[in-house]
Amino acid sequence: MSQLPYRYEAPASQSLFDRAALVTPGGVNSPVRAFRAVGGTPRFMVSGRGPYLTDADGREYVDLVCSWGPMILGHARPEVIAAVQEAVVRGTSFGTPGEGEVALAEEIVARVAPVDQVRLVSSGTEATMSAIRLARGFTGRAKVVKFAGCYHGHVDALLAAAGSGLATFALPDTPGVTGAQAGDTVVLPYNDLDAVRAAFAAHPGEIACVITEASPGNMGVVPPREGFNAGLRDLCRENGALFVSDEVMTGFRTSRAGWYGVDGVAPDLMTFGKVMGGGFPAAAFGGRADVMAALAPAGPVYQAGTLSGNPIATAAGLAQLRLLDDAAYTTVDAVAEQIRTLVTGALAKEGVAHRVQSASNMFSVFFTEDEVHDYEDAKRQESFRFTAFFHSMLAQGVYLPPSAFESWFVSTAHDEQAVERIAAALPAAARAAAEAVAPGTAGGAA
Ligand code: PLP
Repeated sequence: MSQLPYRYEAPASQSLFDRAALVTPGGVNSPVRAFRAVGGTPRFMVSGRGPYLTDADGREYVDLVCSWGPMILGHARPEVIAAVQEAVVRGTSFGTPGEGEVALAEEIVARVAPVDQVRLVSSGTEATMSAIRLARGFTGRAKVVKFAGCYHGHVDALLAAAGSGLATFALPDTPGVTGAQAGDTVVLPYNDLDAVRAAFAAHPGEIACVITEASPGNMGVVPPREGFNAGLRDLCRENGALFVSDEVMTGFRTSRAGWYGVDGVAPDLMTFGKVMGGGFPAAAFGGRADVMAALAPAGPVYQAGTLSGNPIATAAGLAQLRLLDDAAYTTVDAVAEQIRTLVTGALAKEGVAHRVQSASNMFSVFFTEDEVHDYEDAKRQESFRFTAFFHSMLAQGVYLPPSAFESWFVSTAHDEQAVERIAAALPAAARAAAEAVAPGTAGGAA
């Protein structure tokens, strides 16, 4: 771990962070960017190229965040940049329909069999919020089942993960979400079909939908147990509820057709974001034609957006998706496997208890030797070891997600040279993890 006090590790970033803190709450526009979980100075990035990011102090990092998933082809991929440049000179927003959005919708429908129709929006949050509204409008029911540890964006009704006990009525996770807004949300432990069965039994005819991350990445990577997603689909069907699979993170990343392409379980509605926008704000929700027909202007459920289907975002997304052929996924999967092997080898060598869990090319490291099946398991890890590991990697030029509860992301651009840089940084980081002391224990940093 670097011996420098955090403030002086990255002076240009620190100075920008100080400026930012005066005009932006906490100095960032999305909380996890602030490094609160790991401490230290968030790096302000100025450019990206392939697998690398360069910060305001001129330091280069191998990027294992990839903008939290979207940059599956690496940064500034020439074909994507060319598509953006070509689109941007024709104007940046029309507020009318345009061909780009038709082409992007066609690409999504062609890739993901359960999606008959799709509506474009600008963020994953909008996609899940709209899917929930549609599910409620279509079924005429109010309640929504979600799972503890699954994140679906900052939708009021879904910011409720407290009380992971059986069919617990959710308490809001944040001030500003009222009891009424969270009151129709039922939060259950992930990977527990009995809990879902019990919730349907406790609320007959009241549950509009079950929403789940197709394969969760927001409590670290915790894949569904064999049969879990199929069980959700069946229970929803038996009880007249819709099965909503949130593929904002997994969509077009874990395979050509996202997690659906891996487990083949067809949801009624799906949500997408990240990869499909090519680094621009584009997201979508889609699914069964009869359900989507309930959406305005075809049907009565209202949903809209000034910048929905924006021509630059759709051009970038389409260019990226068209480059994502089978060979691209083979490359990303292979790079992920290489890095996982290196990480686990380095940690094992230092005797650090850990588990690398993966879902195709998404993976994360839990600092525990037990399997992680749900949020409670994930929280039992020794995350103070991740903090030490993270800062050592950062000091050596490898940018990891600044939290132990996030997926790591790689791209087709992570070549041999980038992997070698990661390999070179790992021994010291593993040692730092081994030597880390829990805060509050003797000798530990409080
Ligand atoms: N759903 C999932 C599974 C996500 O991982 C995220 C974001 O990380 C969202 C929804 C929200 O997407 P956005 O941040 O674009 O609003």
